[in-house]
Amino acid sequence: MTARVLVVDDTVANVKLLEAKLAVEYFDVVTAYNGEEAIQIATSNPPDIILLDIMMPGMDGFEVCRVLKSDSRTAHVPIIMVTALSDAEDRVRGLGAGADDFLTKPVNDVALYARIRSLVRLKMTADEWRLRQATGSHLGMLVDDSAAKPKAGGGGNVLVVEDNAAYAERLRRALATDNDVLDVVSQPAEALVRANEGFYDIVIVSLALRETDGLRLCAQMRSQNQTRNMPLIALVEDGDYPRIAKALDLGVNDYILRSADSQEILARCRTQIRRRRYQDGLRATFERNVALALIDSLTGLYNRRYLTAHLAALMDRGLRTKKPLALLMVDVDHFKKVNDTYGHAVGDEVLMAIGDRLSRHLRSFDTVARWGGEEFVVIMPEAEARVAMAVAERLRKKIGEQPVTVRHDIGQLNITVSIGIAVAGDDILNPDDLLRAADAAMYEAKSQGRDRVFKAEPAPAAKRA
Ligand code: GH3
Ligand code: MG
Ligand code: MG
Repeated sequence: MTARVLVVDDTVANVKLLEAKLAVEYFDVVTAYNGEEAIQIATSNPPDIILLDIMMPGMDGFEVCRVLKSDSRTAHVPIIMVTALSDAEDRVRGLGAGADDFLTKPVNDVALYARIRSLVRLKMTADEWRLRQATGSHLGMLVDDSAAKPKAGGGGNVLVVEDNAAYAERLRRALATDNDVLDVVSQPAEALVRANEGFYDIVIVSLALRETDGLRLCAQMRSQNQTRNMPLIALVEDGDYPRIAKALDLGVNDYILRSADSQEILARCRTQIRRRRYQDGLRATFERNVALALIDSLTGLYNRRYLTAHLAALMDRGLRTKKPLALLMVDVDHFKKVNDTYGHAVGDEVLMAIGDRLSRHLRSFDTVARWGGEEFVVIMPEAEARVAMAVAERLRKKIGEQPVTVRHDIGQLNITVSIGIAVAGDDILNPDDLLRAADAAMYEAKSQGRDRVFKAEPAPAAKRA
């Protein structure tokens, strides 16, 4: 993994030293010697991570951090504050300004590289969601900005895996300020079960458990689907850089040293909870937008866009596995008359009722979509012609035999449909041909008098002797 690192420090020697060290690790280094320059570089071409000195003449590191974190172009770029100060108050101030970590000079190399790798990896995940969001807005999805706004970091649900009761109590007191709710477990097996429940915002794991290696628990959580993106914070002994590095490489989001005071514990947890909410927000908006883009708003069925994409995938699979695939084209008979007689709104009610009947009388893995206007398409994987005929007949009857109930002053309407069937096989090898064949069969059903089913015959050339 390579990353573009922006190093900001007013002391040339410091910059050169970090630059040299990072270059050896194959990081791509950009440098700035003051706050204004750093902001200019970061906003015009955001790096993957920023190492930011605090004590600089003019604009100090805290201020630079605040500016970058409140600018939507750079808010997602992780910032590590690097300073000679080791005052707890400054660490907290830095984290409060939005910094992702705080390292004290002289910087321990192992911890620094692991930290950079870990933050860059986290950023890649966030970038992926930002990108999907961007693609979505290109495709005309409604983009809800509120998901991308900074989130509050309080009131979180925290799972603590720690068998040292006194330390667990210390965490509880530290997080009480934010009204976080803590559950403490000491058994790793129980921790895994609880973490899988999907209730917690973050998990704090002690790396000094008596019964097991906390690192192993972290690795297990990272390998399971339900907890893959769960923010993990490791509790480590002071100065244990090898384990800090290992934990970060395993995918832990942050670590808390045993000596850390309440303010720092609080600030680190708050940062992780906030980040979790931000990503959850992006994901939820994305999923909602996908739904909006692929689902027909009147009937709640899939729309034509989804059906087209899905049919291509299903046909591909069907041809590969040599399993049949049937497609029904369902068209409402004399629907124009419904609209002309009772109005468009009643026509809409009829379409909803028909969509409902179609989906209620199909197998769970069949797909129903609204193809357009008063036309619906049903795809039935692994259904041969005989089965497709039977299903189409059943659907036709379910719609035609029971009148559709509409607006109370009109009451009930008798509605029928005509259905065309086509089955993918020797002479139909792509989605367009399959849809065309089903459409032609549907028109044949219409011309034979409507309220009936007609199946396309395979082309003579492809018929088996
Ligand atoms: P046929 O039996 O030959 O299919 O006759 P038809 O009247 O159903 O056929 P045609 O395709 O001429 O008419 C379809 C009508 O469906 C025309 C259009 O105004 C109406 N329509 C299309 N979309 C909607 C919709 O979303 N809601 C309502 N209410 N009507 C729609
Ligand atoms: Mg039509
Ligand atoms: Mg029609």
